[in-house]
Formats: sequence, structure tokens, C-alpha cells
Amino acid sequence: MNAFEWVAPKTTEQVSEAARAQGAVLKAGGVDLLDRLKNNLEAPSRVVSLQALKGLGGIAGDAKAGLELGALVTLAQLAGDARVRAAAPKLAEACWHVATPQVRNMATLGGNLAQRTHCWYFRSEHDVCRRKGGSTCFAQRGDNEHHALFGNGVCASVHASTVAPMLLALEAVLTVENGKSSRQLRLEDFFVPPEKDLSRENVLQPGDVITRVRVPPSRAKTGYLKQTAKESFDWPLAVAAVAVELDGATCKRAAVVLGAAAPVPLRARAAEAALVGKPFGPDSIREAAKAAVQGASPLSGNGYRVPVFEVVVRRALEQALEAKS
Ligand SMILES: Cc1cc2nc3c(=O)[nH]c(=O)nc-3n(C[C@H](O)[C@H](O)[C@H](O)COP(=O)(O)OP(=O)(O)OC[C@H]3O[C@@H](n4cnc5c(N)ncnc54)[C@H](O)[C@@H]3O)c2cc1C
Repeated sequence: MNAFEWVAPKTTEQVSEAARAQGAVLKAGGVDLLDRLKNNLEAPSRVVSLQALKGLGGIAGDAKAGLELGALVTLAQLAGDARVRAAAPKLAEACWHVATPQVRNMATLGGNLAQRTHCWYFRSEHDVCRRKGGSTCFAQRGDNEHHALFGNGVCASVHASTVAPMLLALEAVLTVENGKSSRQLRLEDFFVPPEKDLSRENVLQPGDVITRVRVPPSRAKTGYLKQTAKESFDWPLAVAAVAVELDGATCKRAAVVLGAAAPVPLRARAAEAALVGKPFGPDSIREAAKAAVQGASPLSGNGYRVPVFEVVVRRALEQALEAKS
């Protein structure tokens, strides 16, 4: 790891200013960033810690008003908070399923959304893949069991966040500040697919700081499932997050979001279309689960995950069907 300057400003404005310098990088919990530095993926000249910022740590709101989550709230806090568990139980569950208690105690919400892919070729300093300016996606012909089933033509990495799919299903909105300016950004518009820009996984610009995540109030019934190969902490084979709003027994809005499926968390639009306007029950759920994997383009080592996704989507929708609210 290289030597770098360490700064811990007390205001968002100062953070933005410090982070706009060439070679500067933000650090929240540091779980992802420190891995990247230790793996020699980056050599920043300055690390800007967010930990001295006041006001980025709170959880506010309830089921009626929606939730306001500070970007520095840890995944452990989100998983255990009574207001989050009441207003967005599947969000709390998604946070609880991340990694280990030690990681969840350090990992923050903002850092989780902005973490970089865990593709093992990207993480290896010896493999100069397309995301690092090379001309090859090594996963496309290499060891690709954990790689993308959709949208893998340019880069076959999957987005690492397993919390983002649930936040997307709940239509979360980020507040992003940069110096004196502040903007609202739908999480849906946050992620950048490799066909658009290989050098980034989200739209954040130098000096941008995610300060809050708003989860609007929702009457949707929700479901969430993260399927792993082993039961203790593990990266996922398949993630499904769903939110279904009903008018009587009929589905009037559906969000079906796949995680670990593509370089960005993926809305399964065909699955949503299979639900909307139909009675929400076993038949439409089965159709939606089938539709969710339409268009998959598996690689040599990950085709077995296509039926896994179908089952995971079906079970997440069944959770929603059984949910009280
Ligand atoms: C063993 C293990 C298993 C894991 N399993 C999972 C899993 O199943 N699901 C999952 O989702 N994750 C998993 N992770 C990843 C972990 O959740 C992330 O590394 C963590 O959430 C990152 O949060 P952080 O606060 O530590 O981010 P940091 O490492 O501090 O930052 C990550 C990135 O986000 C940027 N950033 C941080 N905060 C902000 C902000 N407020 N505004 C703008 N940019 C910001 C930083 O500049 C940096 O580039 C696992 C990690 C480990 C070690």
C-alpha cells in the first residue's frame, strides 16, 4: 500500500473540497476501500474520511412517513433498528444477510451502494481487465461461476451490493451533496452499466457525497431472498428483491429486482409485466419467475444459476404474497 495523506473534515462542504483533488478517495467504513488499497488496485494520494461528519448517522421516520437513513448508518444498525424492521422489514433482512457481524458493524449504507465489484479478475492486481483499461474480460472465458447471467457482453462482473436490490424495489432516493449543491437521485438512476462507461459503476463525480437515503412510505408487500452456496457468510448465487402493490387481489405495481445477476442491480421488467394487472397468486407468480430469467446469456460455468434465479424469484414473490403488508 502506498503512503497517502489522511484528512477527516467536519462538514460535507469540506469533504467535497478535499475529495475533488486529483487522486483523492472517500472512506466511510473502509471495508471495501481498504481491500482495494491492500490489493494494489488503487494508490490514492489522499484518503478523505467521512467519519468526523456530524448528522450522517441517524435513522428517522416510520412506516407512515417513510425512512430517512444517514449514509453512515451501518448495516448492523439497519438490520437491528425497530423502525426499519417495522417500515421495511425486508430491507432490515437484506442488511442482516450481508457478510459477518464484524463487517456489518463497519460497513455503511453509502459505502455498500458505492462499493466496487468483487469480480476476482477485477480484484487481482495481475489481471488488467477491461474495467482497468485492458482489452479482455477474463471472466467471459475464464472462471465465471459467480459472474453475470445478463448484460455480460462487455464486462461479466456482477454488482456487489445485495442491499441495493431491496432499496431499488422500495424506490429509494439518494441525497447527493457536492460542496454547496445538493441533488436528489433515484437509486434507479445511480448505477452505470459497462456498455455506458466501463470505468465507473455509478454516477458519482469527484466531490459527490451520498448523505442520505430516503425510503418512501409504501403499501407494497415485499419479499427478499439471497441464495448462497453455504449457509454462513457468503457471496450470493442469486438475489431477488420484490415489492408488489395490490388493488384488492390484483397487482397494480410490481418491482422485481435481481442481484448478483448483472453488472448493475437488474429490474426484471418481463417478470413485472407478468404480474401487473393480474390476480396476485401462484399462477402469476410462476409466470413471473419464468419471465425473470428470460434473456439470460449464461457463461460456461454459471448456467446452473439460471434455474436458481427462477426459484429465488418465485420464493421471494411467495413471501410477498404471504406478507401482511
Ligand atoms: C467477507 C465479506 C463478505 C461480503 N459480503 C457482502 C454481501 O453479501 N453483500 C454486500 O452487499 N456486500 C458484501 N460485502 C461488502 C461490504 O458490504 C462492503 O465492502 C461494505 O458495505 C462497504 O461499506 P463501507 O462503509 O466499508 O465502504 P468504504 O469501503 O468506506 O467505501 C466503499 C466505496 O464507496 C465510496 N463511498 C463510501 N461512502 C460514500 C458516500 N457516503 N458517498 C459517496 N461515496 C462513498 C468510497 O469512496 C469507496 O469507493 C462483503 C465484504 C466482505 C469483506
